[in-house]
Amino acid sequence: MRGWRHITAFALVLGMTASTAFGSYTAAVPGQAEPAGLKWRQGSIKLSISRSVVEPNSNIKYDSDVMGAIQRSISAWQQAAEIKIEYDISDRASVSPSGFAGDGVSLLTIAQTPENLQLFNRDPFAESARTRVFYNRRNEITEADIVLNPFQQFSTDSTFGTFDLEATLTHEIGHLLGLRHTSVLGATMSGSLPKNGTLGRSDLAGRSLDEADISAVRDLYGVSESTEACCGALVGKLTTQLNGTLKGSRVWAEESETGRVVALTTLDADGTFRLGGLRSGSYSIFSVRDGDPFSTSLVHVGAYRLEEGETRVINERIAVQRHDVMLNYVGVDSQLSDFAVSVAPGTENSIFLGGRDLEAGKTVIEFNSPFISVIPRSISEEDFGEGVSVLNFRIAVHPDTPAGVYSIFATDKDGNMAALIGAVNVQEN
Ligand SMILES: [Zn+2]
Repeated sequence: MRGWRHITAFALVLGMTASTAFGSYTAAVPGQAEPAGLKWRQGSIKLSISRSVVEPNSNIKYDSDVMGAIQRSISAWQQAAEIKIEYDISDRASVSPSGFAGDGVSLLTIAQTPENLQLFNRDPFAESARTRVFYNRRNEITEADIVLNPFQQFSTDSTFGTFDLEATLTHEIGHLLGLRHTSVLGATMSGSLPKNGTLGRSDLAGRSLDEADISAVRDLYGVSESTEACCGALVGKLTTQLNGTLKGSRVWAEESETGRVVALTTLDADGTFRLGGLRSGSYSIFSVRDGDPFSTSLVHVGAYRLEEGETRVINERIAVQRHDVMLNYVGVDSQLSDFAVSVAPGTENSIFLGGRDLEAGKTVIEFNSPFISVIPRSISEEDFGEGVSVLNFRIAVHPDTPAGVYSIFATDKDGNMAALIGAVNVQEN
């Protein structure tokens, strides 16, 4: 962890990007080199809710169900893992300044104080909220302040152009608990949240946790005794013929039976990884490296059975090659975005897919799920200008498809594969 250990406590700011559509994309994974695995020493956390949030204010639509949104967002995480968040109403208004330690009070605020406004000054409309996390040298979280962006508008009734308060809070409470952004697009802890109406319709998917969120929080805190048995882990190391170049590769697990994405992590410098918080079951493991200075073709590492509570070690040498095909964006209605497309079981949907080197008739588009299929001969190339190649196609979502997020896979004419992880979010009917 570089020079961190010389200091006794740290602050870390995690933001949520308010990406709207293609063109306004902002990298949403700040400070990836920060220590992973930050957590509260005890799962019992006290949160003070600033009066600026619960009393009528100019940032939250009048008559919004603010307390309901707070309660439900907390309860979503409490149901997933052994966590208890108690809250009270507070006169405090400002985020603790960055530094080695805060004031010891975890605060949720939207007050237009200089300290809070300063967090968003550089680009007032780029993010919906930020969470500043303080932690000690044992990587224990000591305080987390959630600041809803006082330049933005929130609501609880899907008002056009506002952020959904509950989805925003659910995401930020994930940060408060120590979770980082994930590149599973449909997960609550993905780095982007659409404003209401951005995709031409209301999408409240961010309110409910995805399997990848649940496994991540369970890996930190475990589950309460009353809920199902948990948790197993797939841990190990991937090596390759390209020495040292796997660092930064994403490794993820999909349920073999359904194809749902259930966990994702990033390979450490030495190629090691941990996918924890998993239920017993069979999982397919994939690995891919996208972006600078190069990309590697997607690799199916293997399929592994995990018993209840088992930690299974996977050490594989995988063959990767540099390649060009890449998937970056997904969308509907001729829009591309960096958040998942929500669909319902039993429907057909037109999907836009943006990336590099995508060619109708040559690129094969597939799902690793028996429940979702690309309708034959529905693929066409779309012109979105220089720098991005775009395919449009239709998918059929079987009526029995379990709720969850599913990846889109693309294979080019040379057999190189790419994936957009968790790009299709199947919502319960
Ligand atoms: Zn965030």
